Amino acid sequence: MKSLDTFDFKAIPKLNKTLVQDLARCEYIGRRENIIALGPSGTGKTHIALGLGLAACQRGLAVGFTTAAALVHELMEALDEKRLLRLQRQIANLKLLIIDELGFVPLSKTGAELLFEVFSQRYERGATIVTTNLPFDEWTEVFASERLTGALLDRLTHHVHILEMNGESYRLSEAKKRRAEKPAS
Ligand code: ADP
Ligand code: MG
Repeated sequence: MKSLDTFDFKAIPKLNKTLVQDLARCEYIGRRENIIALGPSGTGKTHIALGLGLAACQRGLAVGFTTAAALVHELMEALDEKRLLRLQRQIANLKLLIIDELGFVPLSKTGAELLFEVFSQRYERGATIVTTNLPFDEWTEVFASERLTGALLDRLTHHVHILEMNGESYRLSEAKKRRAEKPAS
């Protein structure tokens, strides 16, 4: 459980705190807008996504949280078991879907197409948060098709708030701090 209250905005000065606080009011969900948190590992993307998800839950909204890899896995399994439509409907019914870690693993052709369908079905019907370490010009490498990537980015970024989370890894700087505090042995 991560909340925005425990997020140290000073650790990542480039992140627009006012924007995050505004998003925590969840009005973007009613407007069916998207959020992309973009930055290298350890900069707090998952923390922010979970915090925004919690804020939406506290307002009684139906929220789903998954990683891109797990979502694709679930979709493929549903396809195999002939229950894809039911799963797609469940996903479409979420007011907010959070897809964490897009871009960590390249997708198969079917995987990419199924994930594209999720974005396509949610376009202007529901809000989606994506966290990724991949700049947009590298998304083609994940989805393997330039055409599909173009169509996906077009939908995802039509109504989007971008949280640029460039900075040092919080994990790394915490570890360094701990090491510095430890007396030399
Ligand atoms: P990412 O998803 O970008 O790789 P995480 O959100 O998983 O990074 O952050 C790594 C760890 O550091 C988590 O335990 C998270 O709660 C913590 N963390 C990262 N940034 C901050 C921050 N600015 N304030 C407080 N905790 C943070
Ligand atoms: Mg993460």
